[in-house]
Amino acid sequence: MSSTPSNKHLPRLIDPRKFAQQGLSLNGNVAVSELSRLAEASVDPSTDVEVALEFGVDEEKHRLITGSAQCRLKVACQRCLEPVEINLAAELNLAIVWDEERAKQLPRALDGLILGEGQADLYTIIEDELLLNLPMVSYHEEECIEQTSFGEEVEEEASQTSNPFQVLEQLKGSPKS
Ligand SMILES: [Zn+2]
Repeated sequence: MSSTPSNKHLPRLIDPRKFAQQGLSLNGNVAVSELSRLAEASVDPSTDVEVALEFGVDEEKHRLITGSAQCRLKVACQRCLEPVEINLAAELNLAIVWDEERAKQLPRALDGLILGEGQADLYTIIEDELLLNLPMVSYHEEECIEQTSFGEEVEEEASQTSNPFQVLEQLKGSPKS
């Protein structure tokens, strides 16, 4: 019995308009290391992006690319600079258009994807969508590992038992006459 391979490698160059016309769907993985800008934002690009896309044409003849792309990405925590794993996901609701003008006329639910005729780089399209969803800064959700050693350096300035004013108070308080 052979299990269905879910880690099929996604093709880089496709003809999105043709795919939409034919109503194809595309599932597969892309290595983060193949997406240079995303790899640069990561401290460990040895993970995969899972992609599931549907191509089609809607009632208004928009050629659509819908679906999702997601990965577990290791980035540097901006507090302790140690790696922190974040869940990076993008929902795609793209309508393929020829130019900016036509992109502006799209309904709100759709994002314009300006493409010329023929083949397009699917990896760039996916990478753009993921980068839009990448948080500017990431932190460990719980406390950072390094924080405990920081805390030890801050000691209380004086322990209360050896407070010299307290001793003075006691002297003053003693009956005078
Ligand atoms: Zn941290």
